[in-house]
Amino acid sequence: MVEKEGKKSGLHGRTLVMKFGGTSVGSSPAIRQAADIVQGEIPRWGNLVVVVSAMSGVTDSLIACARAAVAGDVEKYEEIITGLQEKHGNTIDDLLVHDEKRIQLCDELAGLFETLQALCRGIHIMGELTPRGMDAVVSLGERMNARLFSTVLQQGGIASQVVDATRLIVTDNSFQQARPLMDATRRKTTGVLIPLFMEKVVPVVTGFIAATEDGITSTLGRGGSDYTATILGNCLDADEVWTWTDVDGVMTADPRIVPDAKVLPEVSYNEVSEMAYFGAKVLHPKTIRPVIERNIPLWVKNTFNPTFPGTRIDGAHRSDSGRITAVTAIRGLSLITVEGRGMLGVPGIAARTFAAVAKHEASVLMISQSSSEQSICFVIPSEAVPQVISAIEAEMAFELARHDIDRVWAQPDVVIVTAIGSGMRQTPGVSARLFGALGREKINAIAIAQGSSEYSISVVVDAADADRAVRQIHEEVIINGSKNE
Ligand code: ADP
Ligand code: ASP
Ligand code: MG
Repeated sequence: MVEKEGKKSGLHGRTLVMKFGGTSVGSSPAIRQAADIVQGEIPRWGNLVVVVSAMSGVTDSLIACARAAVAGDVEKYEEIITGLQEKHGNTIDDLLVHDEKRIQLCDELAGLFETLQALCRGIHIMGELTPRGMDAVVSLGERMNARLFSTVLQQGGIASQVVDATRLIVTDNSFQQARPLMDATRRKTTGVLIPLFMEKVVPVVTGFIAATEDGITSTLGRGGSDYTATILGNCLDADEVWTWTDVDGVMTADPRIVPDAKVLPEVSYNEVSEMAYFGAKVLHPKTIRPVIERNIPLWVKNTFNPTFPGTRIDGAHRSDSGRITAVTAIRGLSLITVEGRGMLGVPGIAARTFAAVAKHEASVLMISQSSSEQSICFVIPSEAVPQVISAIEAEMAFELARHDIDRVWAQPDVVIVTAIGSGMRQTPGVSARLFGALGREKINAIAIAQGSSEYSISVVVDAADADRAVRQIHEEVIINGSKNE
């Protein structure tokens, strides 16, 4: 096998990072299957790292637990903790024989459950739940499952060791959405993992979690285990990163909404970045960044259909670049409009509006300005609406008093539907087809924007119309569109 040239990590042999998502390690049969997949890959790679998520549903339960604690609902959080103990306990009973390793695992899990109890008690007594406190609580799901999975590998005869990513990934202090500091992360990751590779030990690393420079537990945002895998891939200069999930790969649409969505055998980094940004849950939006930097191929594969090749994501430019690749949707949004006839020609309104939004760290997902300059519209997550409206009203108090701006208002319950494809620019009439598709379904397009990257066109529609819009665009623009080419 040919080694990648210019490797800086000092590793011998080919390196693979494999990540198993929540459903792929969410039940006893799934864990058994994932362990078989690991076993099968060991002979093919010099260095193998496994990243695991919490068992499916566990992160949601931990969030509910912390919220019950801050609300003073002791009975509820105790009940959730008991449920989590049963879930992990039953899985251990199913998968592990009684031996020293199982005893050690049970001791470690008991310690983590004590920590959970203590954190909930603390949150309850203080009556306060900070982002930092929430990260401490949600980190426990990955810590539990990585220990469990590593023990399953050990009982299967594989030399394995659990590694908390708090020892590897260093982040800033933005708890719940922490950003990795790559230089420090690279030093720690190579320092901890390379000695394990040399001893032929398979590290099982917790997805999703990390630590700040001061060693406080942080997380990379919901769905962040994909990002963990590519961060480690970058630091180890891996040959490939594979994410194992519950669908056959990256598809032309979310298969839960479009049952005849097709698997894409190959997609580019840019297309997948755009898809993930615009709501395709199959990968965390930041997953691609670390692999683009080192040109590492990323594969998405199905744990429950492991012989299917899945989707390869890389930097290649393909000749079928005229295609429109996928349609996605982001939900839970509101459209904010700043409007007034007096805005016409007043310089700086847009800049001041977005400066006011930025103060609240609300992320603006899409912007559209009408050519008459009488309104600016942008889309934000619904939970940020009250703060954002007050911030703009405060910033524009003078213009509102003079009626240069008439009102700042929110339309709740909107969805951004996005058509994505590297061929968007070269393919004439994509927007006509898209609006034709919406028109035939009598769906009103509330606002429109073309992505600056020219990989996407987004339409804001009412939440009630979103699924129909996605299905219709899939049918007319992606399926029929590619037949016409
Ligand atoms: P994991 O726990 O393995 O990370 P996720 O639930 O986070 O899995 O992501 C996989 C899910 O993403 C799929 O079950 C599918 O419903 C959803 N999904 C949304 N859009 C797409 C898409 N375009 N292609 C594939 N899956 C998608
Ligand atoms: N367990 C985390 C979540 O549910 C991270 C992940 O699954 O990727 O968000
Ligand atoms: Mg995920």
